[in-house]
Amino acid sequence: MSAGLGFGLMRLPKDNESIDLGQTIEMVDGFIDAGFTYFDTAYVYEGSEEIAGKAIVERYPRDRYTMASKMASWKVTPSFTAEDMFRTQLERTGLEYFDYYLIHSLQDGRDKEAEEKGCWKTAARMKEEGKIRHLGFSFHGGPELLDRILSTHPEAEFVQLQINYLDWDNPIIQARENYETARKHGKRIVIMEPVKGGLLASAGKGIIEDGRAPEMALRFAAGLDGVMTVLSGMSNMAQMEDNIRTFTDMKALTDEERKTLSKVVEAIRSEGRIECTSCRYCTKDCPRHIAIPDIFHAVNDLRAFGEHNRPRFFYSSLVSSGKSGRASECIKCGRCSKVCPQHLDIPNLISKASEMLDKAE
Ligand code: SF4
Ligand code: SF4
Repeated sequence: MSAGLGFGLMRLPKDNESIDLGQTIEMVDGFIDAGFTYFDTAYVYEGSEEIAGKAIVERYPRDRYTMASKMASWKVTPSFTAEDMFRTQLERTGLEYFDYYLIHSLQDGRDKEAEEKGCWKTAARMKEEGKIRHLGFSFHGGPELLDRILSTHPEAEFVQLQINYLDWDNPIIQARENYETARKHGKRIVIMEPVKGGLLASAGKGIIEDGRAPEMALRFAAGLDGVMTVLSGMSNMAQMEDNIRTFTDMKALTDEERKTLSKVVEAIRSEGRIECTSCRYCTKDCPRHIAIPDIFHAVNDLRAFGEHNRPRFFYSSLVSSGKSGRASECIKCGRCSKVCPQHLDIPNLISKASEMLDKAE
């Protein structure tokens, strides 16, 4: 097993609304001191490229880390070209080149958008100029589209895919099929969401030994052939130390442990948990300012712990503090579902959440 741990700079610790630089620096230092090098950011992770500049680029020699970032085709316009975006990213981070550069989220029509807006051509030119070392793309779609993109763009050297033991045989995410498609094309793989946005970190109570859930999820991902990096969107030192321990002493899952994970999958499915990863892409354009992932969190807690007041208090305070519109205010416009990488039917789920949370108040 040779997969390394990557530090996803998407869920960094916050101080009120902005990223906490002090805590981020502490985590970056802990990560690099432990011998890890791979950092992952993106144009659309708010404040993340700038923080990468301050916490990593300004403080470490260039050979101590590798940096990956991503181009968002949907933010490219006639007055802000793909090249403008790329140059902005170099400026934000203070880098002269990216070690890994990805065209971001090539599904739901963004594959065509990336062609039409010149993202691939720009990236290829930047690579020729030495500003990109390795070119790839990230992807949340299905295997047929993945196969098409890989056939059209053999220059992609690696693919970033959502892979974890819960999604491996999930017919919506199709993690296994995507993995097999990428391997058929001989591509190396970067894994995102190995603990499914934290959902698997607390999964399997009474099935997995206490405290071992994240470790087992990471070992599942790292144990697949051809995986170069397993990303973890770490938010605090404790998570980081845990992850570092797992990767420093990486062991393949035993048959017994695989059976345990199958039982956890069954338990999660029978609970009917909403498999939201809290990426928050859906909240940006909601006309009713509904804090969708927080509401799903409350629903999952209610389902897991039965009739309990804590999730209801949580929901009431979200609404009364102005951090969320009521679930009942959803107008079913569907903007949220269009951008959900987990392909959740959000309007329908929000309507069910409203029945559980609004009517009970
Ligand atoms: S469908 Fe509802 S939750 Fe989704 S964006 Fe529209 S109003 Fe917001
Ligand atoms: S886009 Fe989907 S996965 Fe992301 S926070 Fe919203 S509901 Fe959850």
